[in-house]
Amino acid sequence: MPPFAICSNKLCVYIFDMLENTESGFKIPPQPCPECMSRVILYCLSCHAPILEKPSQQDPRCAGCDAPLKQDPVR
Ligand SMILES: [Zn+2]
Ligand SMILES: [Zn+2]
Repeated sequence: MPPFAICSNKLCVYIFDMLENTESGFKIPPQPCPECMSRVILYCLSCHAPILEKPSQQDPRCAGCDAPLKQDPVR
């Protein structure tokens, strides 16, 4: 399981930190996002690399292929 999961909605800043949440009892990321109900992603949507570094809140990008991790909301 990758250490981070991030909401795929560009307008939402939700990030799930596996290490932080283990202490409070959450070991798997919520699905969908508890803030906006969008999909929470664990992997880059372009190259499917796991999100290994804490993504920046402003412009989260894949460490492998530099693709943006967030998308425009579907709705
Ligand atoms: Zn969200
Ligand atoms: Zn990638």
